[in-house]
Amino acid sequence: MPRIPEAEIERLKNEVSVQCLVEAAGVEIKRAGKDWLGRCPFHDDAEASLVVTPAKNLWHCFGCQIGGGPIDWVMKSRGVSFRHAVELLKADPSSAASAAAPGAAKRSSVRVLPAPVVLDADDQALVNQTLDYYHQRLQQSPEALAYLQARGLVHPELVATFKLGVADRTLGLRLPDKSRKAGADIRARLQKIGLIRDSGHEHFNGSLVIPVFDEGGNVVEVYGRKVRDDLRPGTPKHLYLPGPHRGVFNRAALTASREIILCEALIDALTFWCAGYRNVTAAYGVEGFTDEMLAAFKTHGTQRVLIAYDRDDAGERAAEKLAQRLMAEGIECWRIQFPKGMDANEYAQKMQPADKALGLLIRKAQWMGNGAAPDGPVVDIHTVPVRPKPVPPSLAAEAEAAAPTTPEPTQASPLPEAPKADTPAEQNDTDL
Ligand SMILES: [Zn+2]
Repeated sequence: MPRIPEAEIERLKNEVSVQCLVEAAGVEIKRAGKDWLGRCPFHDDAEASLVVTPAKNLWHCFGCQIGGGPIDWVMKSRGVSFRHAVELLKADPSSAASAAAPGAAKRSSVRVLPAPVVLDADDQALVNQTLDYYHQRLQQSPEALAYLQARGLVHPELVATFKLGVADRTLGLRLPDKSRKAGADIRARLQKIGLIRDSGHEHFNGSLVIPVFDEGGNVVEVYGRKVRDDLRPGTPKHLYLPGPHRGVFNRAALTASREIILCEALIDALTFWCAGYRNVTAAYGVEGFTDEMLAAFKTHGTQRVLIAYDRDDAGERAAEKLAQRLMAEGIECWRIQFPKGMDANEYAQKMQPADKALGLLIRKAQWMGNGAAPDGPVVDIHTVPVRPKPVPPSLAAEAEAAAPTTPEPTQASPLPEAPKADTPAEQNDTDL
């Protein structure tokens, strides 16, 4: 086996940040003077015995009495040999840091991958590229995938359609080191945009990220939801880019349908979408319906809004207020009534199958205007779940033989039967 050139080893020692590796391994570290302190992951550490010294790019544990540079960290944390650690770091420092089984790491001799962002790109391109990187990382993150699963967000096209991603603390590993000018410059720019904080951490660290696009396909807003619930008290679970909210989530829905389901949170909107209800959008929180959303409703000729805010005090109040505002613009408003205290995601998870359970509430939505409701049950052709079109067996075989690469656009199913008065599917709050 050829010797690893000394220059290569020196380069890794200088260019791969120990601090980023430690953070990427999920260790929370806090600044203490010129050092950073955290709990050592290699022993049962009740205090912060792990010290990281960025100026020297070294780490040390006072409990284990071990330490070193980036290569030593990967050897210890991944349980691999010196050579293997070097290979991992050369191939991709972000993957070297993650806690995948050491055997699964692919040996490779490619150089350190280029930064996921083009260093001289404009601000909008930097945001787009960072979100592209987060999107690529999602499939490498068992934790984020498990989170989607746990929230019932499992539709096979979901991740690609909305370009969901994860900020898995590896972005810093892929940027030039901060001690170099290029590294310092790009970090300063990402900081100005709000993707990196003053502390140097990624703003969306440890979060599932949901980008919101403008009509040109640019990311104009990002919602982040921490995937772990065992956070230090006071850590916010919900994050956005700094500054006023921008963008309309799933704008395609407004183009396709005059009837829109409006949720108070993006996770709720994804819940409807996964259950087949594609004509759905979301506000940015219970008080987060923006002028831009209203303008988009008007531009696209939205006629009817089914407000699917949480069924709690805040949700009820906000739905009432919003209905006044929309109806003043000539948009009919209906209230989807989850059982008391519930939101769309919780309801869909408890009431299986979710498409039927949500469909029931859509058909029973309550008119929010004065006087009698406009005629008939509220159900637009788009407010029925999208299901795969049934294909006769013979055609199915042919289709398979033809190996289609682009699926046909799915047709909306015929309207489901309205529930009968004695339908057992009806749920009382107390049943749940
Ligand atoms: Zn230790």
